[in-house]
Amino acid sequence: MSRLHAQWTEQLNSLTMLYLSIKTANPTCAPVHYLEPLPDSNYVKIWCIDIFDGRLHEYIPWGGTDNCMHALLHAGYLPPTPTDPQVAFSLRTLDLLHSLFWVASNFGIQSFSRLLTDMHKTVFQHHLKTQLSLAFDMYYRILSQLHGLVQRELGHDVPDHRLKHSCPACHYKVENEQERPVQFIITGNGNTSLSWLHHHFEVLKSIHDGEHQTKEDPLVSTISDACLAWKNAQPIPLKSKAGALQVMDETGIFSVVCRHGIVQFLADMVQSGELAKYSLASTEKLIGMFGKNILFAYDVGCMS
Ligand SMILES: [Zn+2]
Repeated sequence: MSRLHAQWTEQLNSLTMLYLSIKTANPTCAPVHYLEPLPDSNYVKIWCIDIFDGRLHEYIPWGGTDNCMHALLHAGYLPPTPTDPQVAFSLRTLDLLHSLFWVASNFGIQSFSRLLTDMHKTVFQHHLKTQLSLAFDMYYRILSQLHGLVQRELGHDVPDHRLKHSCPACHYKVENEQERPVQFIITGNGNTSLSWLHHHFEVLKSIHDGEHQTKEDPLVSTISDACLAWKNAQPIPLKSKAGALQVMDETGIFSVVCRHGIVQFLADMVQSGELAKYSLASTEKLIGMFGKNILFAYDVGCMS
């Protein structure tokens, strides 16, 4: 499977650019049905599955020297394997599956495979689900790569882009606007509504010289000893009422919003109640990002 992934990765950039040109010229990505070629011409004969056209043999013109994947993609198909494919799915079929996942995240490839066989009046075969899954994985990688390119072109791939542009009224300035004593008014608070039980896979355990090292909370490491001496910054006692939260890994979120009610960012509260470190870390983040003239309204009585 890793070899298959590596082979796809080698072609990812070229397939992404080709998909972009095809999508631009043919937005519906309808398959191209070529006529049966002459005996002396080069072509690829392959089973193709389309949501509307069903399962049919296609003759895809192929020079033989260029990439076979490019020839298939030009015809509107994507196979599950990059080498010697025996079957391919149409792009509009994969696009439909992608849209179904967007509107119904619990929708499964198994259901879609059975839908295809039911529509085309064929017998369901288990390998169809595997083939479809592999083809969709590559299709999704192409879409993700394309999304990354668009984000880069728009300049949205820089760190904290969302924070910098979250509220136009707070973060945008008009020309010759005078600086005011308070430019940016925000508030923050925590809640325990979004809690998660501990998951083993979320603990980073690296075996180093025979010892296990656990991932440290980055927020804790930034707090000095003097600050930890403060009662509100200490961990929750096991026997306290709030100690019940210790069965949780993430106990809630600490949200920071501007005066227009637009969320600036959220911080996970990890194995603790609402402690001072969350407001302090939020303040540090805001100062680092926006500099001065910030008014951060926070009720310290909220801290446990
Ligand atoms: Zn605002």
